[in-house]
Amino acid sequence: MDFRCTDCDQVFSVTTRLWRCECGGVLELSQRPRFDKDKIDPKASALWRYRAMLPAIRPENIISLGEGWTPIVSAHAYGISFLAKLEFLAPTGSFKDRGTTVLVSFLKELGVQAVVEDSSGNAAASLAAYCARAGIHCKIFVPASASPAKLAQMRAYGAELIPVEGPRENASLAVQQAAQGSYYASHVYSPLILEGTKTLAYELWEQLGGRAPDAMLFPTGHGTLLVGAYYGFRDLLEAGLIEKIPALHAVQAEACAPLYRIYKENLTELPDLPHGETMAEGIRIRRPVRWRAIIRAIRETGGSVVTVSESEILAAQRELAHQGLYVEPTAAVAVAGLQKMRPHHTLTGRGEWGEGGTGEGSGERSLIAVPLTGIGLKAPSQSDFSDF
Ligand SMILES: [Zn+2]
Repeated sequence: MDFRCTDCDQVFSVTTRLWRCECGGVLELSQRPRFDKDKIDPKASALWRYRAMLPAIRPENIISLGEGWTPIVSAHAYGISFLAKLEFLAPTGSFKDRGTTVLVSFLKELGVQAVVEDSSGNAAASLAAYCARAGIHCKIFVPASASPAKLAQMRAYGAELIPVEGPRENASLAVQQAAQGSYYASHVYSPLILEGTKTLAYELWEQLGGRAPDAMLFPTGHGTLLVGAYYGFRDLLEAGLIEKIPALHAVQAEACAPLYRIYKENLTELPDLPHGETMAEGIRIRRPVRWRAIIRAIRETGGSVVTVSESEILAAQRELAHQGLYVEPTAAVAVAGLQKMRPHHTLTGRGEWGEGGTGEGSGERSLIAVPLTGIGLKAPSQSDFSDF
């Protein structure tokens, strides 16, 4: 296994401390493992049932907290039924644990003893937990705007927190300086993260009895779950186990929607957007690093990018809570996106987008899956619920 630059094709050893290529491009695995259903280990802990399809790591170095294999329950919004994949039931309360277990196990394998990171939220909390488990020192550069509950969680795991004044980008600059002397364990840049998030697709395929959903919606900032799922479904397609990759839809907050601009206006460069404020802090990302891969996955699968307003996010969060699903605003973004596609979208050619009822006259109904990415308990806007 090697890393390869997605822009200039330069190859790097996996032991490299570079988090991106000298040309500025992002790294990916030069060769990804293939999916083989006969190699699934049903006795292994959760996500590590797919160990044969993950980068080679010796058993003693696998750092697992039982992440993955999350339940699926039915839910509905705006008269549309969908399957909710309960990613917020992960060990640290978000889907980030899928990527972290692979990344930290890989770092343990490399003998790394200290890491730095600059996420302000779920990714850093997840990294802090797995580093605690692995005995790896974890230093996190956090912007002043970080959610207090998430900071408390990182501190509880024993992470060293370094506050950085100003916007989020300042924390990124600080960490990149610190990364000269330490391993930058970035959820955004590390290709190992996508190897973890791809298991979302494998699980859906297994849990749905050997089929893929017709469509999926993701709250999208840096797009690590969407791109990972795309890889996972492509693996299943190449293995001849599904006929088609689901239409992958990205949902962004109106206040911060660079992917929407790129998609709508066919831009070939990232637009320079102002700092938009949104309660969906997990996807408040002005410059998604893997934007080309995100847009490619969306176009290739017949997906789309839509935006939702702050009031639509709140309404979706409320709608989910009334069905017993308490998620953070970022997670509710994907569900809010459901209403944006219905009138003009035929997803499968077999029936209108998520039409409710029995689908008489329009053939089989579309199977829509939405990962609910983060738990509501550590979101900063608890007071939003005070009026019920
Ligand atoms: Zn390069």
